[in-house]
Amino acid sequence: MKFKVVYTSVPPIEIEKESLLKLGVEYIERPAPTEDEVLAIAQDADVLIDRSEPCTRRVISNLKSCRLIVTPKVGYDNIDVAAATEYGVCVANIPGLSVDEVSDHAMALLLACSRKLFQLDNMVRAGGWQVFHGKEMQAMWRGISLIRGQTLGLIGFGAISRAVVPKAKAFGLRVLVYDPYITPDVTEKTGAASAQLEQLLKESDYISIHTPLTPATRHMLGVAQFKLMKPTAFIINTSRGAVIDEGALYNALVNGYIAGAGLDVVEKEPVKMDNPLLKLDNVIVTGHSAHYSDQVWAEQRRRPAEEIIRIMSGQWPRGWVNPQVEAKFIERWRNTGASA
Ligand code: NAD
Repeated sequence: MKFKVVYTSVPPIEIEKESLLKLGVEYIERPAPTEDEVLAIAQDADVLIDRSEPCTRRVISNLKSCRLIVTPKVGYDNIDVAAATEYGVCVANIPGLSVDEVSDHAMALLLACSRKLFQLDNMVRAGGWQVFHGKEMQAMWRGISLIRGQTLGLIGFGAISRAVVPKAKAFGLRVLVYDPYITPDVTEKTGAASAQLEQLLKESDYISIHTPLTPATRHMLGVAQFKLMKPTAFIINTSRGAVIDEGALYNALVNGYIAGAGLDVVEKEPVKMDNPLLKLDNVIVTGHSAHYSDQVWAEQRRRPAEEIIRIMSGQWPRGWVNPQVEAKFIERWRNTGASA
């Protein structure tokens, strides 16, 4: 029986198949947006490449031969890692991918919100200009603040968030950090200061979210948190939409609890055209594009194939998410030629 690799995403990234095919791997690429569709094509797969399809306990428990689930991205909130570990399945991601791109994107959203970039552009396209529409233009300018001396609050202080710090400092921003898993000395080494969430919410002019989506971070920002923020503050989200309670965000924006939002991600993706946030001119939505650059695209094509070759040749994945699976993996696959 050939080693079988299944890629379920819509649309799949064209991963480097040549190296796999040379090894005699059977490779299947087919969109499978539901649990049943994933199972229909991947039940007997040795490796599942999964970009954002549901990789739930039900799916994982029914995968008969799967040794590796690999995602060509950083976030793996669609994969039930605990279930994978229980069933002896390795999970791998591409840690560190898009750190520069996402931190640049967070800064781009911050600057665009702060400088009212899109409102100004829309006004000019509608025939407005400083000299012709003095009063309207002055009203439009109100609320644009000097960035130097303002405060940026970072929620989550992993790879992307840390890459934001020097960029923010270059604009003269003071940086506060809330991350309960990071000790203050780590934060302070970067030139940022540690804070409790409440202090960060109260003092920040911009809040940028950089946590994974977990049960603890889901709807971490809701009505109570928006009410603590300054009415002039902006929320920036390049992590996962569901970290913010979107209904509460909409209310905060229309009731003036905060000034605006720069969102790369929303709770339901792709965004529904009737999502009320799209009606607000103080909201920017960039369609989950923060990770992208032509250079990252090449990396996303290469890395899953490399991880598959590693597992086939008895090595653990480089982007191993669940090393605690080791004993279970060896026990389950010992006699199948797949022990790592
Ligand atoms: P990372 O794992 O390096 O850092 C995540 C940080 O969040 C860690 O320091 C962790 O301690 C912290 N954290 C976890 N739970 C927390 C909580 N309850 N409160 C505060 N902090 C908490 O991840 P990263 O590479 O910096 O990426 C962050 C997230 O960005 C990813 O999980 C992914 O969902 C998202 N992302 C989005 C894009 C995009 O295109 N928009 C691209 C890459 C990553």
